[in-house]
Amino acid sequence: MALNFDFSEEQRMLEESVYKWAINWLEPQMEHMYEIDEMPPTLFKETANLGINGIVFEEKYGGAGMGYVETLLAYENIARVSNALSMTVGASQTLCFDNFRRNASEEQKEYVLPKACSGEWIGCLGITEPNAGSDAMSMATKAEKKGDKYIINGSKTFITNAPVGQFMTFYAKTDPAAGPKGISAFFFEFDKVKGCTVEKIKKWGMRTSPTGLVTFDDMELPAENLIGGLNKGVAILTSGLCTERITLSGCTLGSQRSCLELCLKYAKERVAFGKPIASFQSIQDKLANMYTGYLASKWLAYSAASYCDSQKNKSGGKGTDLDRMAAASLLFCGEMGTKIALDAVQIFGGYGYCTEYAISRHFLDQKLWEIGAGTSEIRRMIIARELLRDDFKSGR
Ligand SMILES: Cc1cc2nc3c(=O)[nH]c(=O)nc-3n(C[C@H](O)[C@H](O)[C@H](O)COP(=O)(O)OP(=O)(O)OC[C@H]3O[C@@H](n4cnc5c(N)ncnc54)[C@H](O)[C@@H]3O)c2cc1C
Repeated sequence: MALNFDFSEEQRMLEESVYKWAINWLEPQMEHMYEIDEMPPTLFKETANLGINGIVFEEKYGGAGMGYVETLLAYENIARVSNALSMTVGASQTLCFDNFRRNASEEQKEYVLPKACSGEWIGCLGITEPNAGSDAMSMATKAEKKGDKYIINGSKTFITNAPVGQFMTFYAKTDPAAGPKGISAFFFEFDKVKGCTVEKIKKWGMRTSPTGLVTFDDMELPAENLIGGLNKGVAILTSGLCTERITLSGCTLGSQRSCLELCLKYAKERVAFGKPIASFQSIQDKLANMYTGYLASKWLAYSAASYCDSQKNKSGGKGTDLDRMAAASLLFCGEMGTKIALDAVQIFGGYGYCTEYAISRHFLDQKLWEIGAGTSEIRRMIIARELLRDDFKSGR
């Protein structure tokens, strides 16, 4: 019997509505916003109107009650126009708010999630520190309990959305002597704390997606801003990594697809030596490679998302097939995306090097996906660890 690799009617409608919005609303402003490196200020109100802010959240919080396949589909279709803004939406809604949803108390969720769904709040997640990236467990940020408060000192860097966000979740050592077992998760609202500063980081790619260095200098947090219990931080942190890697694969998928579509059009229009460049075999080779790479990336990512949706435990983590599949999804999509974007620039020749052409943005943004959400090297380590665990017995 045939495997059904097609999307449902509802998924098609979602794909169409997000892409239509991206091409009509985002596309006309992207060149300028990229130049000035600013996020369109009403972005999250727009995505709220599209119904994708709380795409996997329960309806009682204002969510759509859908799954990670739909999240991936939404992120892919934003990224057909802007890889960077797709990441910004993902960092807020999946990395920050969805992980919060899975670990916070009912009271905390009732307070936070409706504001995430309405676009009133933009979220950010702080794991990385200036001296602790891949080795996140060596974080130095500390939270010391004093009475009914925690005093936070340290910093988090490369934090997507920190310069524009209202809400942040982050991890800090609450028992430094206990190593990874002494880490806890916290949340706060930027306008309700003192002792927290944000400095915008300049980047050559992923412009429009605001990135910041967040510094905590004796920042006081009420004890109730702890998420999921004292010293439970590692489980909370790892519970978000699989859905993060799967859904953010959509950022690179969108860029891959756009590169292919833009190149097909351009190669038919651009004439050299009296013929469209599409008639040259070396251009056709690149187009064929782009198509094959996109298709392989696409079904790897959607199969990981679909497997995740089918699981009761959507967190994955060490010792699960989901951990391997999620790491493989972003590893392959990320590296393939860079190859495809490079080929796309080559097909566009000198125009591919100019900021007026969307190809240049896809190319600049794309490289991030070999670094962010755990580097390619770390993803290979995860895949190898899980292969050696079960000798690939599940075949997944
Ligand atoms: C635009 C952007 C947005 C980001 N958004 C966020 C965010 O919202 N929140 C957040 O917390 N973080 C965010 N990050 C941080 C990102 O997750 C880290 O940059 C990433 O995890 C790598 O950490 P690092 O930069 O410190 O590199 P390092 O860990 O210092 O790694 C440097 C190099 O060494 C390699 N390496 C390290 N350890 C090993 C090993 N054991 N074996 C082999 N190779 C190894 C790495 O693969 C890499 O090539 C963002 C980064 C960028 C650039």
